[in-house]
Amino acid sequence: MQIKALKFGGSSLADAEQFKKVANIVKAEDSRRYVVVSAPGKRFDGDTKITDMLYEAYAIAEAGDDMSDVFAKIRGRFESIITGLGLDLDLSRDFDKISSAFYHHPGRDYAASRGEYLNGKIFAAYIGYDFIEPAKYIFFKEDGTFDSERTNDVLSAVLSEHEHAVLPGFYGSMPNGTIKTFSRGGSDITGSIVARAAKADLYENWTDVSGFLMADPRVVQNPRPIDEITYRELRELSYMGAGVLHEDAIFPVRAAGIPINIRNTNRPEDRGTMIVPRSDYYNYETIITGIAGKKGLSVINIEKDMMNSEIGFGRKVLEVLEDHGISFEHLPSGIDTMGVVVSNSEIADKSELIIKDITKSVHPDHISIEDGLALIAVVGRGMISAKGTAGRVFRAAAAKGVNIRMIDQGSSEINIIIGVDESDYVRAIEAIYEEFVK
Ligand code: ADP
Ligand code: ASP
Ligand code: MG
Repeated sequence: MQIKALKFGGSSLADAEQFKKVANIVKAEDSRRYVVVSAPGKRFDGDTKITDMLYEAYAIAEAGDDMSDVFAKIRGRFESIITGLGLDLDLSRDFDKISSAFYHHPGRDYAASRGEYLNGKIFAAYIGYDFIEPAKYIFFKEDGTFDSERTNDVLSAVLSEHEHAVLPGFYGSMPNGTIKTFSRGGSDITGSIVARAAKADLYENWTDVSGFLMADPRVVQNPRPIDEITYRELRELSYMGAGVLHEDAIFPVRAAGIPINIRNTNRPEDRGTMIVPRSDYYNYETIITGIAGKKGLSVINIEKDMMNSEIGFGRKVLEVLEDHGISFEHLPSGIDTMGVVVSNSEIADKSELIIKDITKSVHPDHISIEDGLALIAVVGRGMISAKGTAGRVFRAAAAKGVNIRMIDQGSSEINIIIGVDESDYVRAIEAIYEEFVK
């Protein structure tokens, strides 16, 4: 029989009514055996996610102040779910333990993880599945990176002992036993880890949209859902900011070739998006698969005659960034020019120092840092065979008065990246979407 691993996001489990929908979905198929849950998310626009409330409560407790107001709100939200489901479940001991732990500074990650932990306990009780504690089976290494192989060995063994189970997402443990979380949105990664360890046939990722959409629905109105997308295309889009799935969620399932199906908890009848290892087909009508983008970037422009023949030039520039602990996003370069795109927040207060250090190291003719850059990625496996796609991207943007500040086709044939002013971000995405989709 098929095995499916499922993950439900915060909005899918925001209140008792959402819990009921989730339980119906899980019960609808026997193959839906392993369920990963997030903490309760927003119930309406302007609401606060439990995870954010936990960070807030912890910050107050860490400063030595009284967090009881915020903690009472957190507790209230979980209790209203329990009551709304008519469950006979008493979590007072957990709440007492967590709130007193906060004053002993167990770490921000421990605090944040309690949202998933409590929600997992409630959902397991509601649906009657076993509860599996991820801190015992999901491991990080001493340097804080995820220990995939050890986790997979241990977790596979434990899952095989459970016919059905619920696991909280988002966290695992360090070698010394303390709780560590993935970065924000990390329950997607837990879902993928569980799918791999369960040797699942499919990883269903249930959220509040009917699949991966061709553009961010907050930028383009009613974007078309993508039927099928490859791992590589997805990676390009999610790295560039398409927030549906955590950018690292692809790795565990990719190792096992398991497809991901993005589904909508509020519209379970929709087929959603299939994310597959590879595909021989693409949408001939649209050519492109999707558009994503991110703001908040800066570019370090360096010019020097004959730069290309100067051995070690690029390395020296990057070494300066490395010394300052800064990672770079893109590296568009020409014969006598090199651009290094970095996140604005990483260089903000160090820019003068960086200019000074690069100048000292490579003696450029000109160097400057420009802020306010946004990058937009147009991604599609169809672009390899369809000629002229880049030209269409540039023309569409130009026709709407968007000034293209940078082009970076990179070595990947499935991705064209353009840099525009942040103020042109929305207009550029709309223009490209209209050119290919409408
Ligand atoms: P969950 O809480 O279920 O993990 P997220 O909020 O992390 O859900 O991700 C779903 C959200 O991602 C959508 O509600 C949507 O606003 C946003 N989003 C951004 N880009 C896209 C895209 N290309 N397709 C679909 N949703 C997108
Ligand atoms: N609850 C966590 C967050 O808000 C993890 C997740 O939702 O995936 O980031
Ligand atoms: Mg998410």
